[in-house]
Parts: sequence; structure tokens; C-alpha cells
Amino acid sequence: MPEFIARRGDDTWLCRCDNTPDRDGFVPVIGRREATTTSIRWRGRYCCLRCGRLVAWPTRQIVGQLDFADLTLRPPRRVKGQTIMEYEQDRLTLRTPVRVRVGDGHIWRFGQIATIDGERYVVDLGRDGTVTTTRDNIRRL
Ligand SMILES: [Zn+2]
Repeated sequence: MPEFIARRGDDTWLCRCDNTPDRDGFVPVIGRREATTTSIRWRGRYCCLRCGRLVAWPTRQIVGQLDFADLTLRPPRRVKGQTIMEYEQDRLTLRTPVRVRVGDGHIWRFGQIATIDGERYVVDLGRDGTVTTTRDNIRRL
């Protein structure tokens, strides 16, 4: 019997492991390699970057599972053997352009990473100064 991942109200994919495109994300794959969705060989499969489930687009049917050790991501993204956390931190370096959640959490502002101090990230909003926040509230552009 076919199994499917869920969809949140706003049409965002929600994997069985609770991953969404905003969290660890999904990458298009051909076999065990990250692909681009414009490749003629791509057959609509995405790999969940949290649990490795393979999901068919657009039906959301679960069609398999990859072991991350076998998954090859395109540089400069995650490399074999690296954990998701390491990958996430690698993606944000000083001056990385980002969106940051401010105020009550419904407003996103554009800025650049100014300082990374452990769990604490300072984002430079330009004329509006800086905001200090955590990784959860930052999305890379
Ligand atoms: Zn998943």
C-alpha cells in the first residue's frame, strides 16, 4: 500500500520525521546524487535531508529511503559523513545574506550575518541596526 508524507496548510511538505523545506529541507535527487529539477534525467524524486526518505513529486508518495553515507550533495553543500548540524552551520558564515525573523515572529527582514558566537547569531539589518537571534530564526537567501 502506498505511503505518503503530509502537507501543511500552506502547501508545504511535512515529512514523517517532521522535516519541512524551512528546516533541514529536501533536495532533488537522481539515484543517490543531488540533482537539479531542470535535468532531463530527474524523475521528480526528492530526498528528505533529515531522515533520508525519498519522496516523489508532486504526489508526495514515499518511494524509498537513502542512507546519508551514500548521498552525494553538490558542492558547496553538505558532504559525506557530515551531520546536518555541521552542514547547517557551514552554510552561514560572516556576511552571508539571510532572512531573519523579528518581532512577534511573523515579520522577516533581510540582512547579513555580522557575528556568530556559538548559538547566538547577530544579523546586520543595515540602517535598522542589528538583531541578535538563534539559528532557528534565520534562513539563508
Ligand atoms: Zn524526513
